[in-house]
Amino acid sequence: MTRRVSIFGATGSIGQNTIDLIARDPEAYDVVALTGASNIEVLAHDAIRLNADVAVTADEARLDDLRAALSGSSVEAAAGQAALTEAGCRPADWVMSAIVGAAGLAPGICALQQGATLALANKESLVCAGGLILQTAKDHNARLLPVDSEHSAVFQALVGEDMDAVERIIITASGGAFRDWPMEKLAGATLAEASSHPNWDMGQRITIDSASMFNKALELIETREYFGVSPDQIEVLVHPESMIHAMVGFKDGALMAHVGPPDMRHAIGYAMHWPARKSLPVERLDLAQIGALTFRAPDDVRWPALRLAREVMERGGLSGAVFNAAKETALDGFIAGHLSFPGMAEVVDQVLTDTDPSHIDAPMTLDNVMAADHITRNAARSAIQQRAG
Ligand code: NDP
Repeated sequence: MTRRVSIFGATGSIGQNTIDLIARDPEAYDVVALTGASNIEVLAHDAIRLNADVAVTADEARLDDLRAALSGSSVEAAAGQAALTEAGCRPADWVMSAIVGAAGLAPGICALQQGATLALANKESLVCAGGLILQTAKDHNARLLPVDSEHSAVFQALVGEDMDAVERIIITASGGAFRDWPMEKLAGATLAEASSHPNWDMGQRITIDSASMFNKALELIETREYFGVSPDQIEVLVHPESMIHAMVGFKDGALMAHVGPPDMRHAIGYAMHWPARKSLPVERLDLAQIGALTFRAPDDVRWPALRLAREVMERGGLSGAVFNAAKETALDGFIAGHLSFPGMAEVVDQVLTDTDPSHIDAPMTLDNVMAADHITRNAARSAIQQRAG
C-alpha cells in the first residue's frame, strides 16, 4: 500500500535527504505536497519527478516563477503562508516538518490536526510551543516522531524502557566550528568561518547555530518538551567525533548510547519506517578504524547559549518562543554583518531580560505564540540597531 507523504522544507538539507530516501522507492509513496521558499528550480524539479499533487513556495513573489517551472506538468502551484497552511491540511499519512525556524510551526500544527504522523526536524516548533504541539497531537490522535539526530537517538534508546527508570538524558554536541578557537578570536569570526561544520553537512542557519551552541540550546528545550523530563535530568556532552548522538542513563547506572555515522538519513529513515527498521543507505561504522571517541564537558563561558536555555526552561510559559525569535533575529543580524558572533548571545540575553512578563505568561495558543514571536523580533532588531549605532 502506498503512503501519502508531504515534505515541508523540501528544498533544504533535511528535505533533500528525505527526498533521497523516497526517490529510492517511489512506488511506496504518493507525494501530496512539497514546499520550499526561494529555491524554485529544485522545488519544481522534485515535484515533477515525484509527481506531487502540489508545490508551494512560501514566497508569494515567486508564484509566477513556480508556475513557469511547473508548466506542462500536472503539479499544482501555490504560494504564501495561507497556501502553506492549506498544504498542511491536505490529508497525508506522514509529513516531514523541515522548514527552518518558527515558520514551521503553523503547517506542522495543521498536519497534526488532520491526524498525520509528523516527523519533526523543525525543533523550533517544540521550543516555541511544545505544550501546544503535544496537546494537538493528543487531541487528534496524531503521532509525533523526532528527527533531530539526538532526539531520534534518545527515542531509540528508550524502546521497551519505562520512563520511570530514566535518570538522565545526555545529548552530545560536536562543539561546532569554533570548539577549539581561543576565546579572544571569536569576536572576529566571519560568516564563512561560522558556516562550516566539522562533521555534519547541514543548512547554513543550523550550522552557525552549532558554532554558537544555540542549536544545542534549542535541543535542550526540545528534549525537555518531547520526553517530559526535568531540566536537571538533561546534560550536554561535547563529543567532537559526532558518532554517539545521545545516551540515556537509567536508575541502575546503565547508559544506553546510540552510535551512528553523522548522516541525517538515519534519523529521517527511522522516523519514516517506524516502528520497523528498514535498510538505509548510510555508512556502516568501523569502530576499529575509528579507534577512539572523545568527550569533554561543555564550557558555559564559550557557549552562553546553554546557560540561556536553562534560564528559559526555568521560566517556562512562552519564554521559549521569545528565546527562539530573539535567536533567529540575532542570527539574521550576524548573517547580514550587523552583529559580531558573540553579539548574538548578548542580544538574546538582553531581549530575554527586557521582555514584558505578560508576553511570557500569556496562555499558549498559536496566536499568542505568534504575537510573542513578532514582538520579540522587533525588540531584537532594535537591540541590534542600538548596538550598531
Ligand atoms: P535549510 O536551510 O537547508 O532548509 C530550510 C527549508 O525551509 C528550505 O526548504 C527553505 O526553502 C524553507 N524555508 C526557509 N524559510 C522559510 C519560510 N519563511 N517559510 C517556509 N519555508 C521556508 O534547513 P535544514 O534542512 O538544515 O533544517 C531544517 C530544519 O531541520 C531546522 O529546523 C533545523 O533546525 C532542523 N534540523 C536540521 C538538521 C540538518 O542536518 N540539516 C539536523 C536536525 C534538525 P528554500 O531553500 O527554497 O528557500
